[in-house]
Amino acid sequence: MDDCIFCRIAAGNIPADIVLEDDSFVAFRDIHPKAPQHLLVVPREHLLSLNDLDLWQQCEGHHLLGFIVRAAKEAGIADSGYRVLTNVGPDAGQEVLHMHFHVLGGQDLGDFR
Ligand code: AMP
Repeated sequence: MDDCIFCRIAAGNIPADIVLEDDSFVAFRDIHPKAPQHLLVVPREHLLSLNDLDLWQQCEGHHLLGFIVRAAKEAGIADSGYRVLTNVGPDAGQEVLHMHFHVLGGQDLGDFR
């Protein structure tokens, strides 16, 4: 989608600090990091949020989790620990309407959300 910022990042049309990518997913650094390491993992396919999961090939969910682990390893936080979260809809404050997973680490996150 031309007007979706994460589609444009995934397509390489606007710059981002990309940590890992494959045919299905891209991991890049959040421009307003909330932890020393703050990645966003997005599917190349445009889905609005986790609510669209049933529009997705069933196997992609499994691939997504594996990709998140690989991105955390690439960022050097797999052993120290990290948190994965996704915001869905207005009550969660979802700002970008392209499904994405925050991967946060690099410090003791405590009860940080
Ligand atoms: P959410 O509130 O879950 O929709 O989070 C959207 C996230 O996208 C925020 O943490 C923003 O800082 C981040 N963000 C927005 N635009 C960009 C961009 N061009 N590059 C990297 N991160 C971005």
